[in-house]
Amino acid sequence: MRRLAAWGTAAIFVGVMAFAIGCKGPDGKVLDKPHIVLIVLDTLRRDALSAYGYPAKVSPTFDEFAKKGLLFEDAISTAPWTLPSHASMFTGLLPSKNGCHDENFKLDSKQVTIAEQLSALGYQTVALYTNPWLNPYTGMDQGFRDYIWVVWPVGKDTTMKKGGEALLKRLVGWNVRRRDTSKPLFLFINLMETHPPFFPPEDYRRAVAGERGVKIKGEDSSLNRQMDHDFGVKKIPADEIKLQRLVYQGEVAYQDYILAKLLKTLERIAPKALIIITSDHGESFDEHGLVNHQFALYDELVRVPLAMQFDGCFANGTHVRTPVSLTDLNAMMLRVAKASSKCKKHIPMKELIPETRDPDRIRIAEYHRPLLIYRLSHRIDPKILSTMDRRLEAVMKGPLKLIADSRGAASLYDRSEDPGETRDLSPERPADIEFLRTKLGPWLPFSPFDPTTVKTDHISPEIQDQLKALGYVM
Ligand SMILES: [Zn+2]
Repeated sequence: MRRLAAWGTAAIFVGVMAFAIGCKGPDGKVLDKPHIVLIVLDTLRRDALSAYGYPAKVSPTFDEFAKKGLLFEDAISTAPWTLPSHASMFTGLLPSKNGCHDENFKLDSKQVTIAEQLSALGYQTVALYTNPWLNPYTGMDQGFRDYIWVVWPVGKDTTMKKGGEALLKRLVGWNVRRRDTSKPLFLFINLMETHPPFFPPEDYRRAVAGERGVKIKGEDSSLNRQMDHDFGVKKIPADEIKLQRLVYQGEVAYQDYILAKLLKTLERIAPKALIIITSDHGESFDEHGLVNHQFALYDELVRVPLAMQFDGCFANGTHVRTPVSLTDLNAMMLRVAKASSKCKKHIPMKELIPETRDPDRIRIAEYHRPLLIYRLSHRIDPKILSTMDRRLEAVMKGPLKLIADSRGAASLYDRSEDPGETRDLSPERPADIEFLRTKLGPWLPFSPFDPTTVKTDHISPEIQDQLKALGYVM
């Protein structure tokens, strides 16, 4: 049912949109649909990129990419962590609608993904990813003909690269062995250099943080240490968090170097493609008492970078101020795939993402009960864990953002005046609270949690090794 509905919506726009197709495959043969490439830079904060105002020049590749296409000023994710965010990108639905989130780690096979939809349109579909949370046990592989997990070497500590450069080699090898040049290509890439633990190559650490950065270790930003901070068991000193923030910028710069090599490779593998670069969520550095990317829906977690290029169909260097959500990407990619003539002028945003026509558009981000985090943090006193046993939902209308808690609390921010979300306006703006509350989904009742009931048996030993290397204790 969902498949028909999505296609019906996309079909409406085929007649009005005029996109560039007729692009060539790597062998020079003319294809009737454009290649589509979705690149997710895992855990990349929007404000960590120079294009969005980071004061040092750490992201020349991304910045240059945005200058030749569209840079979205206000894009949000639907969730603050990997699995639900990717499930939303793939299905175009909120986590509560597609059912894949913290309380259920598997996308149901009844859901229809962008890879399935493009595959049905004749695309060759391939995914290469390094984040183990995207493993096939989560259902994220639906619709991909080739679903390639690039495993990075697991050492005794967390001081290793996270697979980005190895992924590039696998992509080149895949292209030689598996590419069907008679078909347009849908390529999904996930790189996770900016995911904790933070430990970029030494020259990057030195460049951003001097000799203090060289001495830092991956274990310093392990999940256990971050959870101890978030649950208040043992706080990480403020000056150390500042240092980790700098080292994180070293990861941003290192990942940008990998991105440059990836884009160069794509010129050959997927010429004239629609290329989308985004992130699945950000990372906290104690802005609201938290580190890592759990337990909250503030902008440092859900506001993400988003830029696109499409073979001259976008006005170069356009800053798109219209609010969008990563849920918009699914239908947008379908529209591009189904359009049928060469673009004669730059595509207006209202045709690329028709949802942006609505000036009163509501966007939503969700955080379900963090059952997996409880399971992974079982060494912490259950009473302490229970302090985070709640669901959260953020409702955004223009600059206004309501963050509501299933236990009844709510806070309101005006991000145009207070981008750091530091001043709760709920006491002085009851009418706005009341209105935004009407947009919340229903809170379903739940019982107090029992960490022993959260099952991780379905995760293979190999994946568990990778998760352990990221600092997760299974
Ligand atoms: Zn992620």
